[in-house]
Amino acid sequence: DLLISQIAAGEVVERPASVLKELLENALDAGSTALRIDLEEGGVALIRVTDDGGGIPKDELPLALTRHATSKIANLLDLERVATLGFRGEALASVAAVSRLTLTSRERSAPHAWKLTDAAGEAEPAALLAGTVVEMRDLYYNTPARRKFLKAAATEAAHCLEAVKRVALSHADVAFTVTRDGREILRLARGEPKQRIADLLGAAFLTESVEVDADAGALRVTGLALRPTAVDGTKEVQYCFVNGRYVRDKLLQHALREAYRDILHGSRQPSWCVFLDIDPAAVDVNVHPAKTEVRFRDSRAVHQFVFHALRQALATPIA
Ligand code: ADP
Ligand code: MG
Repeated sequence: DLLISQIAAGEVVERPASVLKELLENALDAGSTALRIDLEEGGVALIRVTDDGGGIPKDELPLALTRHATSKIANLLDLERVATLGFRGEALASVAAVSRLTLTSRERSAPHAWKLTDAAGEAEPAALLAGTVVEMRDLYYNTPARRKFLKAAATEAAHCLEAVKRVALSHADVAFTVTRDGREILRLARGEPKQRIADLLGAAFLTESVEVDADAGALRVTGLALRPTAVDGTKEVQYCFVNGRYVRDKLLQHALREAYRDILHGSRQPSWCVFLDIDPAAVDVNVHPAKTEVRFRDSRAVHQFVFHALRQALATPIA
């Protein structure tokens, strides 16, 4: 069982940043309004996410650490399926298989918090005002082969920060604090999406951008794109989100790039931060375990819609 967990975890717990991404998503799922992220040694020694969400009831703490699919893995084909499905209902179990994981949580109505260090062990009373603290220490301590693939702490820390960035961009109404080896490296107050984008991607997004906002029933696209005059040609900043999740999608990228065609000269790369909202039934988000790839049912319609939305925004004269 442990071996299977470790193999499956190896597929999906790629590096500290992939752990952090899952912990952040769980905290947001729990309705948190403020998150604190503490990292040590690039997240290898410690990733701690403290939230103010709804918490986990005491009797559900062990369940949160239990791999649901394990019992169903009968052969290698099944194992592959688990790996491609990724973290569905088993992120914490996967992380627990390759690190030392501790959950401390307090439900709103509970008189105090409970702390669990081992799914097979007993929860102990703990002190916590509200919400949940998920603490992951010593990633890959029991799988040294995987540990060897980790990059320098600075690199892993940068990936962790990028994971925070991606989540924070699509959750402007949530506050974030990040510390690295005891030093605060990022603080984001709750605010408007525009301000959040500018805080994370640069002030040009406030002063030299166009606002994208188009609606076609089941499709909506919002966001900011830099005016061609603001594109300095050295570094492009391109973020796309589908239903609030960061994606790297060729189709969306192409549609947005095309909107700049004939407006932007040479090989200069434009910058944008764009949010697409689409009927979940019209998009498959489970193409890749890391879930940054998507597949649209009607990719032509999505392409045209996004292209026209940005094209129109770029054509609007400065007010
Ligand atoms: P999934 O998110 O797919 O359900 P996870 O392994 O990521 O699977 O989490 C397991 C369960 O643990 C979640 O469904 C949720 O009930 C609970 N949980 C995890 N993290 C938190 C958190 N920060 N706050 C509240 N509940 C949490
Ligand atoms: Mg999860």
